[in-house]
Amino acid sequence: LIVIDTSTPSIQNDTFMADELKKLVGCEVLLVGRHVTYAPKETLLRFCKHVNIVARNYFWQQVLDLLEGKEIEKIKGISYKEDGEVKHNLPAGLPKGEFPFVSEIYKEQLNLRKYFYASMKYPYILVNYQFGCCWNCSFCNELLKAKFFARPIDNVIEELKFIQREMPWVKSVLWDDPTFVINEDKICELCNEIIDNKIKLHFGCATRANISKETLKIMRRANFTESFHIGLETLDQEGLDKFIHKGMSINQELEYLKNCKEVGIRNHGCFILGLETDTNEKLKANLEFIKRLPAIDSIQVFPLIPTPFENIFGNEAENTAWNKVKKYLIPEVWDNGEIDYSKWLKPNGKYNCVISYPWLTKEQIEAWIERYYKEFYFRPKYIVYKIKQSMNFAELQRNFMAFKSFLL
Ligand code: SF4
Repeated sequence: LIVIDTSTPSIQNDTFMADELKKLVGCEVLLVGRHVTYAPKETLLRFCKHVNIVARNYFWQQVLDLLEGKEIEKIKGISYKEDGEVKHNLPAGLPKGEFPFVSEIYKEQLNLRKYFYASMKYPYILVNYQFGCCWNCSFCNELLKAKFFARPIDNVIEELKFIQREMPWVKSVLWDDPTFVINEDKICELCNEIIDNKIKLHFGCATRANISKETLKIMRRANFTESFHIGLETLDQEGLDKFIHKGMSINQELEYLKNCKEVGIRNHGCFILGLETDTNEKLKANLEFIKRLPAIDSIQVFPLIPTPFENIFGNEAENTAWNKVKKYLIPEVWDNGEIDYSKWLKPNGKYNCVISYPWLTKEQIEAWIERYYKEFYFRPKYIVYKIKQSMNFAELQRNFMAFKSFLL
């Protein structure tokens, strides 16, 4: 069995390679990942000639079931092609209990020293505490939304001890959960275990900007010294409410950032430009607002990356960002009435803006993205802040590598 991950910008390549491998090797090929989770029908009917099955959402159980020879129609969480039609089996259940350590595989098969991430102490490793996210933002194509499951805390602590013992050169752990802080009580329990077990690794995570000050303090004591990646997305309340349905208020986000400043937690703020509610005036105001935010160490600004959402079991496709912006896709993405997803990337591998509104064009969105980066990073106040931060050798090394990758 060959398992191939997919994404929207690479789906045409992914499926071409999957078909070729199936022809060449002759074994079963299973497509997994974000694109096939939300667009299984289009993937199988339009792009696949030989591959017949995809696994939606998380896919461990589907892989095990296939390896054990279970009949395809009985495997939950699978969509498959039969007689030119696509059938969707019921969703897979959520796993429970202990998880094998992904770090064991990394230790055996991956040279982690080859990977640098500006937000994390180098070298870093990715580990999950939870899978899925309890929110359901309408633009997001996480593998599991409105549902999540967590590993037992003692299982997670054992893995951290394994990393410390077997890979002592690893400096930091980036929690790869889509949203790390979902249940604050559980996060406090995990942090207390980290402290009690004298785990010395440094931690960073991706999370929402609504963590209480008490939880932030415990996280800081547990060595959460690396950036928190927070999806602020936009500082326009109308965009948060009406376009992406984030379920957050700007005031909550400001309160969170103020608390971070007091507790000593830094953030990597992630923003999306090109929401249907954006205008040139709003983007200008947002930029000025971002420059004044406390506890923001770095930013990431992407154009809206629309991803298709099929209506698989009912009305889940309603209200998605995709349904709202599909009519604003730029003409270049259309190829004989079908969408060419390879246009989601530029030749240099960076995201292409594929949306153009009558009131805010693709060119304007791209120009704003460039301006956000330039005006945020090349401010005297920010440069002074980074110079002070670089007095420490590890920070100097990190900032130097980050600056180098920024210029590339
Ligand atoms: S909170 Fe983040 S991960 Fe969860 S649905 Fe919203 S955007 Fe996706």
